[in-house]
Formats: sequence, C-alpha cells, structure tokens
Amino acid sequence: MKKLIKGLQEFRANYVSTHRELLEQLSHGQKPRVLFITCSDSRIDPNLLTQTDVGELFVIRNAGNIVPPYGAANGGEGASIEYAIHALGIEQIVVCGHSHCGAMKGLLQLGKLEEQMPLVYDWLKHAEATRRLILENYAHHQGEELLEVTIAENVLTQIENLRTYPVVHSRLYQGKLRIYGWIYLIETGEVLAYDPEEHAYLVPQSQLTEDEHQGLVPGQFVATHAPPVACELPIYAGSFTASPVTPVVVQSSASAHSSHSTEQEKHPANGQDGFSSLWLSEEQANRIYRGSAQ
Ligand SMILES: [Zn+2]
Repeated sequence: MKKLIKGLQEFRANYVSTHRELLEQLSHGQKPRVLFITCSDSRIDPNLLTQTDVGELFVIRNAGNIVPPYGAANGGEGASIEYAIHALGIEQIVVCGHSHCGAMKGLLQLGKLEEQMPLVYDWLKHAEATRRLILENYAHHQGEELLEVTIAENVLTQIENLRTYPVVHSRLYQGKLRIYGWIYLIETGEVLAYDPEEHAYLVPQSQLTEDEHQGLVPGQFVATHAPPVACELPIYAGSFTASPVTPVVVQSSASAHSSHSTEQEKHPANGQDGFSSLWLSEEQANRIYRGSAQ
C-alpha cells in the first residue's frame, strides 16, 4: 500500500501538473474512440501498450477477455458494451487476448477448477465455445502450443459473442462499427492482429490503409497496405476444407490432419530456432520475433 500512496503523490506531482488542460477538458465529459476488451492480467496495460492517454480508451477487463453472449449474464460487460456504443458512440472495438493467459490455462483444465475456484469455473462457461472447438479440432496439440491456439481462438469466439448484442449487430449492419482481434505477447511487448481475409494473426500495421499509415514511425515491419476489415465470423474446420489454398495459420493444425498436410510444411508450427507458434507462418514469426529489418 505504501507503494500505491507514493505513486499517488508522484502522479499528482508529475502527471497532473503537466496535463491540467487535458484533465480539465475530461472533467466535462469523455469521448473515447475505442472500446478495449482485455484480460484482467496484471501484465497487460491497455494505455501503456497503445501509448494512449486517459480518456482515449473505454476499457472492459475480466478473466480471459470474455464477452458473455447477450442475455447470458447480468454482469457489467453487457452494460458497458451497450453504453460504449450507444451513449459514447464508439465505432471500434478491440478484443485483446494475451500470451500465457491463466484463464485460458484454466479453460483447458476445467475439471480442476470446479472444486478450487467455483466462481472462475462458472465464469469460464462463457468461453465454452472456445473449449469445445479446441477439444474437437486441436486435440492432437499439447502444452504451450495448445494454449497458444486456445488464446487465439478465444479472441475469435468472443468477437462472435459480441455480435450477439443487438447494438453491435445493428451498428455492424450500418457499417458503423469495426471489431478487431488482437493478441498481446507479454515477452516481446508486441501485438498481433487478426486478419479475417488471411484467417491469421498478423502485424497490426497490415490492417491500415495507406492514408492511415501516414505518420507511423517506420518500424521493422512491412505493411501490406491491406484495407482495414471488420472481423468476419471465423472460418472453422468444417467449412475450411472447401478452400485448400487459403493461408492456414490458426487453422493449420486441424487442416494438416485432413487433406492439407502441405500447409503444415509451408507454415511449420515450430521454427528452426525453436520458436513455436501456431498463429504465425514461419516467415511472419521470423520477421516479428527476430525483429529483422525488411
Ligand atoms: Zn489472461
């Protein structure tokens, strides 16, 4: 507690004294541009990782960055979503999962949770669609690989849950809302963004238009200048076999066991340097994790 009190003093002395105008402005109302839904995990700081200021992100946090489907819970998530979109006019939602997520580990071992943490057990029922999908389609994976793909698929599941909210459904229909799926990598501080066209998690810059790209500091990544796209419903294994040439990343493991074993060769889950990721092609993994200039 002493650390927190000291922090309060430093906050007033350093931040408040240099941001008086902003704080005064915010006292009259908020106009955040983004609804940011992420995990309660202490290793994530939405404002820090996006380098945004107070007043810019409307945040919902809970164990596992879960969005209970409309009508499934009386918690604060639904009310916050409705308020963010209807009252604040927010037009962009980010669902941000993260590496090493304890909630997703729990989801993979639900049996143990029921006795030890019954409330967590109940909460994770809102991610049952993720658990079921993983169980039936990724059963041949284990350990860290299974956790990675669970984290990736759960973000997509929660985006689907978001779409069950009438206000979300309506704004998507009007083209006034975009939903993005992100994964924050704790070890590198990087974010990967889901690209529904590629059905893969890519560097987020790839989802910017040329105009939006202006002003970004050139990094080590090459943007593909693909237009920003609202998340479509994830393409799962059942419908995936119709398109064998589609780049397979999230789905690579399931496809590899069907007729697409060549995809596994093109996008091996394990890089030669020991890096392991199911949601990146080898090329992407090399580019992102090694930070090699392109
Ligand atoms: Zn987490």
